[in-house]
Amino acid sequence: MIPGAFNYHCPSTVADAVALLSSLGDEARPLAGGHSLIPMMKLRLATPEHLIDLHGIASLKGIRQEADRLVIGAMTTQHELLASPEVSAAFPILKETALLIADPQVRYRGTLGGNVVNGDPGNDMPALMMTLHASYRLEGPDGVRDVAASDFYQGAYFTALEPGELLTAITIPFTASGHGYAYEKLKRKVGDYATAAAAVMLTMANGKVESCSIGLTNLSDTPLLAEAAADAVIGTGLDDDTLKKASERAQEIMSPAADARGPVEYRKHVGGIMVMRALKRAAARAA
Ligand code: FAD
Repeated sequence: MIPGAFNYHCPSTVADAVALLSSLGDEARPLAGGHSLIPMMKLRLATPEHLIDLHGIASLKGIRQEADRLVIGAMTTQHELLASPEVSAAFPILKETALLIADPQVRYRGTLGGNVVNGDPGNDMPALMMTLHASYRLEGPDGVRDVAASDFYQGAYFTALEPGELLTAITIPFTASGHGYAYEKLKRKVGDYATAAAAVMLTMANGKVESCSIGLTNLSDTPLLAEAAADAVIGTGLDDDTLKKASERAQEIMSPAADARGPVEYRKHVGGIMVMRALKRAAARAA
């Protein structure tokens, strides 16, 4: 199937893109990598009359360090994240997660911005951004604002992005050196979305967990932060009882859909296993 007809716009500044989005209203959609939007258009699940292509806006590209944070332009592709020495050094979990997204073709075109702003519960980056305490810079007709990733997701495909707003950058505060990390994703085959996935960031001191953050992908309408599960491991050496407790606490907040990836109980069961595996692997990596 091919998409329906649309008008194509290619602004060269954020201000021009915002002006177009504001004046064209509901009938206009930004176009990033197109690997979520174009399939939706082919299926007629999205029928925008205007596409605002963001590829001509140079300021939306690139990865830079700013004081105590890494700032990633919304149009940075998954492939560029994988190739970035800054990302590998500061956030190896970002690289690990990007490598589990789809296949090289999708990663060459798909952007971090498109992935996090789309609101698809199956996307891998949103839960990771919550785990990393990232924030999103949104620019619209009323100015610029920063929204924490943990406050951004409100329902499936429903986010805090207001009409006329563009996501311009993702900001991630640097974490302690020597932290442990892991992204565990169960999928039916290479290139598939997660049946269940868990992101873990932690620090250890004297064999005990000092700090921990756990995110969950595709286990609810929105990405989730499993705060009670993370609290359960603080001060422990991650023995088997603690891992089981963390898994149970995480399962308490999971409400996955029953779909082709499995019934609710199965997805919660494997979600718990992803949490335990990610905790173990993160602890093994912590210095
Ligand atoms: P687009 O498709 O261009 O846009 C997505 C949505 O976000 C659109 O509504 C668009 O208007 C809006 N948008 C884009 N950029 C902005 C912006 N800067 N500001 C405001 N709105 C914006 N993803 C995963 O996470 N895990 C997977 O396992 C996975 N598997 C895939 C398998 C296949 C075969 C395919 C085709 C895709 C898969 N994806 C997966 C999705 C892929 O990662 C997409 O590239 C990503 O979700 C969207 O990024 P994009 O740059 O392609 O955005």
